[in-house]
Amino acid sequence: MIKVESVSGLRALLNDKKNIVFIPTMGNLHEGHLSLIDQATLISRTVVVSIFINPAQFNSSQDLEKYPRTIGQDIALLRPYENVIIFVPQLNEIYPETPNINYDLPPIANELCGKYRPGHFNGVITVIDRLFNLIKPQAAIFGKKDYQQLHLIKEFSKVSYPTIEIIGMPTIRDGNGLALSSRNNLFEKEQLIDISFFNQSLTNIAHHAQSGQNYQESILFGIDALKERGWLIDYIEVRRSSDLKVALPGDRHLIILGAANYKNIRLIDNIEFCIDGSN
Ligand code: AMP
Repeated sequence: MIKVESVSGLRALLNDKKNIVFIPTMGNLHEGHLSLIDQATLISRTVVVSIFINPAQFNSSQDLEKYPRTIGQDIALLRPYENVIIFVPQLNEIYPETPNINYDLPPIANELCGKYRPGHFNGVITVIDRLFNLIKPQAAIFGKKDYQQLHLIKEFSKVSYPTIEIIGMPTIRDGNGLALSSRNNLFEKEQLIDISFFNQSLTNIAHHAQSGQNYQESILFGIDALKERGWLIDYIEVRRSSDLKVALPGDRHLIILGAANYKNIRLIDNIEFCIDGSN
């Protein structure tokens, strides 16, 4: 493992490297991040992991402030990875000037999470554009936990970085099915059982939909049950998994996506599922 903090240092390290696989993160690493890194090490000898909390994608300064920062622990977790370059830039290395680009994103960027976090995906694409341009990877790996983000990065890359392969990896969960997330660390340990009610609700709705039941009713029922337990729901919706458009009768490959707040902490999750052809 090599740690590098400057853009010039990273450029020098990557100068003669081909087949670079890149994993952007905001740190506070957990098994979900490590699953992406494990995949990268299987396909390349040169893996770059960035750890950079990107202010451009936060809509609230409070959310940015309380985002967990555990760089010492992150580096210790990555130490066993021989071929991994960790890029830990300061803000001015990535943004010498305050970024001010409006990307022409597809309309879906303003739906689902985009509706509740205006500008969020523009901020995500801003940092991805800078990092792709600097690192010039052959492939970049992302988690399906952030499914809408993965979709928008794929769409952006098709046009702006067509040679970069965008790989999506499954969501890693704990024993209660809770998707691992840096934000889970903002809860007390005892609350982790409570917050797994969110993914259990999504799973129930997906099962109802799969068995041919009216999932709109299950969504309303699920939202009520979550509200009763103190959750504030941003959205729970079933969409087409291929393009995240509203599912139409006859669409079989679907995904349920949700975002909800518990004790002022916002969690997102999603589950892909397939409706049997006979339904
Ligand atoms: P973050 O540090 O939260 O920006 O995440 C960095 C990358 O890790 C993103 O591509 C996320 O989708 C991915 N990721 C986060 N949590 C998980 C998880 N539980 N399983 C798989 N990938 C994840």
